[in-house]
Amino acid sequence: MNYDMPLYRPPSEAYSMIFQVTLGCSHNKCKFCYMYKTKRFRVKSIQTIEREIEFIAKKGYVFDKVFLADGDALVIKTETMLEILRLIKEKLPFVKRVSAYANPSNILTKSEDELREISKAGLKMLYIGIESGDDEILKLVDKGADSSEIIESIKKARRTGFLTSTTVVLGLGGRERSTQHAVNTAKLINESPPDYLSLLTLMLGPLEDEYREKLGVKWTPLDPIETLVEIREIIRGIDRSGIIFRTNHASNYLPLKGTIAEDKHKLIKILNDAIENPEKFPLTPEFLRGL
Ligand code: SF4
Repeated sequence: MNYDMPLYRPPSEAYSMIFQVTLGCSHNKCKFCYMYKTKRFRVKSIQTIEREIEFIAKKGYVFDKVFLADGDALVIKTETMLEILRLIKEKLPFVKRVSAYANPSNILTKSEDELREISKAGLKMLYIGIESGDDEILKLVDKGADSSEIIESIKKARRTGFLTSTTVVLGLGGRERSTQHAVNTAKLINESPPDYLSLLTLMLGPLEDEYREKLGVKWTPLDPIETLVEIREIIRGIDRSGIIFRTNHASNYLPLKGTIAEDKHKLIKILNDAIENPEKFPLTPEFLRGL
């Protein structure tokens, strides 16, 4: 199988078979995201996708999950997506779950009937980048959706049978907008609680100055403790229950897991301890973040 690199997948898809049904991201404008900047977006032909599925089927590999890459595979036309899911079912009948990244606009431009058909055909999990619940930050970074569109996209995905796994990027608005980022992200989660919520930490390395320039406003990166404060404020603001919460992404300083709001007090206590006594909580050192 020839993958067009770079290739990304969520941490929870580490053992999934990946079919790269699209290349790049149809939006590709978020100022903090460099994942697909080297690729021109395109959807692979159904003939190529079919050949790749057949190739893997003949290999006799064992896996029960499939991830459809690249950045927003749900952008694919409904009839093509249904054909891909049919081919997976026919040629890889042991697959139990198919997942993909989705932009809010991919979800909003499809009708409820189309989405229901797609989820029934086997695409069960959508990974949706919320990034922030704050409209000023979403506009600054050129997310391509505001908070009301993100809220509606999560609600629509859940109504039509998908599991939703969402991500928020810590430090996106910098020190200057940290409070509004946390408060409005918690509000968004309360309005449209996803099944899963993961927090990632912005990692720009040598591209920090370029990011600041692209934003065109004052932006100061958060230090590790300020990042923990941002996490605490997000958790504090969420009052919905049953949301599986993780900060296990390699970019984070402190791995946490639990269910919000059930484990809210436990998580806040850990964060308080780590903020007050960071020496007792060895945070992930910079050189290990991202590995
Ligand atoms: S929509 Fe996602 S993949 Fe596309 S540019 Fe934005 S963050 Fe990157």
